[in-house]
Amino acid sequence: MIRLLRQNWIAALGTLAIILLLAAMPAVATPFLLRVGQTILFGAALAIAWNILGGFAGYWSFGNAAFLGLGAFAAGIFQEHGGIADPQLRFLMSIFAGGLASALLGALIGYPILRLRGTYFAIAMLGVALVLSELSSSVDLFEGALGITIDTVTDIAPDVYFFYAFLVLAVVALGVAAVVRYSRLGYGLIAIREDEDTARMLGIPTERYKMLAFVLSAILTGLAGAVYAFSLGYITTSSVFRTDLSLNMIVYSLLGGMGTLLGPVLGAALMAFLTQVVLGDFLQIHMMLTGAIIVLFVFVLPKGIMGALPVGPRYAGEDVEAGNLALVSSEISPVERGESSAGFLSVRSLSKHFRGLKAIDGVDIGISKGSISTIIGPNGAGKSTIFNMVTGYLQPTAGEIWYKGSRIDGMATHRLSERGIARVFQIAKPFHGLSVYENVLVGALFGRSGAYNPTEVAVAALKLAGLMPLAGELASSLPVGHLRRLEIARAMATRPQILLADEPCAGLNPTETREMMDILSKIRNQGTTVVLVEHDMETVMRISDQVFVISAGKLIAEGEPRQVASNPAVVEAYLGKPLETSGAMDDLDQKGTLS
Ligand code: ADP
Ligand code: MG
Repeated sequence: MIRLLRQNWIAALGTLAIILLLAAMPAVATPFLLRVGQTILFGAALAIAWNILGGFAGYWSFGNAAFLGLGAFAAGIFQEHGGIADPQLRFLMSIFAGGLASALLGALIGYPILRLRGTYFAIAMLGVALVLSELSSSVDLFEGALGITIDTVTDIAPDVYFFYAFLVLAVVALGVAAVVRYSRLGYGLIAIREDEDTARMLGIPTERYKMLAFVLSAILTGLAGAVYAFSLGYITTSSVFRTDLSLNMIVYSLLGGMGTLLGPVLGAALMAFLTQVVLGDFLQIHMMLTGAIIVLFVFVLPKGIMGALPVGPRYAGEDVEAGNLALVSSEISPVERGESSAGFLSVRSLSKHFRGLKAIDGVDIGISKGSISTIIGPNGAGKSTIFNMVTGYLQPTAGEIWYKGSRIDGMATHRLSERGIARVFQIAKPFHGLSVYENVLVGALFGRSGAYNPTEVAVAALKLAGLMPLAGELASSLPVGHLRRLEIARAMATRPQILLADEPCAGLNPTETREMMDILSKIRNQGTTVVLVEHDMETVMRISDQVFVISAGKLIAEGEPRQVASNPAVVEAYLGKPLETSGAMDDLDQKGTLS
């Protein structure tokens, strides 16, 4: 938090100044301006809450009005039946009831609904809002069809009173969002947005994090709904379960800058100013102009107002000198005793069937500690499927997976990362929207459990992959050769004891391939066991201690590279042509090792 303030002191001071100015506003402002202010603060609070899940984690909800409406009704019902006489206390307790009701709803539906991704999640939330809206108008307790009258709270002018209420609400929401954004939770959510599969592999407990963000977003929206209910004085189904408010939250975040802290606030301010102050007298064309503004923004400023400000991706590691390479080696923590060197990682009679297809069929592989082992085999042989099972993305149909003396099949991916297993995917999955440094930092913030300084680890991993000069670049700007190295650096930042790299040289030219091999050798020499999937025979021969050949889901050969290369079954299945034509084999021939 201190570092955060040091880096963002201009924004922090600016925000504080604006909050103080706003607090002084009721003394000078006209009732009209106060109402505009209320609209902005209410909209900002809703958009900030929406942005915690939608902006940070990329889970767009089209139905946050569900939490808004529920919060409003819970507050209304509580003030009516709660039995508290003191109006001030009743007001506060009712607001609290609104937040609580929404939190419960979030906790109840979170687990199933967050399993949906993308549009499915968005639409499901819309459904939740519709169901609740319908319930509120047909269930007697809610009295939504007739409406609930809400008592006046205070003797102060309501305009002023609710201006302050919404101000407190918006400040609380912003505070919560700021803490989330710069905590591990925030980095975890952003990683989920960028690529959820990779996030799991880096050790992020994705289910728990999404749930937390969802419930936080629900609570803040419920609180806003409750305050809103009191400001209206009378609520019905149609005044609080408002689809247009669900959409406004998204629009404000989009216009201001999706996933940024202040974006939702700026978006709310801009839209309220345009619709109420500028267009206030042209009510007939109001919606049309609002629509036109949205379209204009999407075309001209797709990243919103924040995206237009000159703040590039940040590289916060300048002040770190250490970045000792030892930080990303396995030797930083004492190696667990009692591990047998052979079978550090092993799969036994492992099978994976996809309906009729036996993608993997009774495979046994034992990886020795401290080695570089390579799995080779034709396309579709089942190599990636083995990695998917070892890293918890797929459940084996049969067989066992053992790592450091315990069974790991069935374990969640992020738990495996905590235990020191890292993986690089066959298709590069960088976090495009983050800088090179931030990509690696996410790995350093999660991964294998233990005490360490994430910044130093990230720098060490960047150095290992030779990426320090590019630390501040946006990952999306890197060419493929650098992307592959970025993925290795990010995986190594999790401080793994074993690295599974699925075709890390795919798409690389010969020079880049050689560089990649050097990096992998360095990784092994630092104490991390490496398992590769690789096509290029020459590369395999040069780097591997052990080779496993998979063909059509079965292990057809294993051993030292030379033995394997001379195995007729391998020649037949893998190369489909005589080995003598391969350059790598010529080398070996000259050394007289092939008969
Ligand atoms: P390799 O990595 O050796 O090229 P894969 O392990 O990706 O091969 O795939 C092995 C076989 O399993 C292929 O025939 C592939 O189509 C199939 N396969 C892989 N994953 C799935 C899946 N999730 N569902 C169905 N079939 C799959
Ligand atoms: Mg593959």
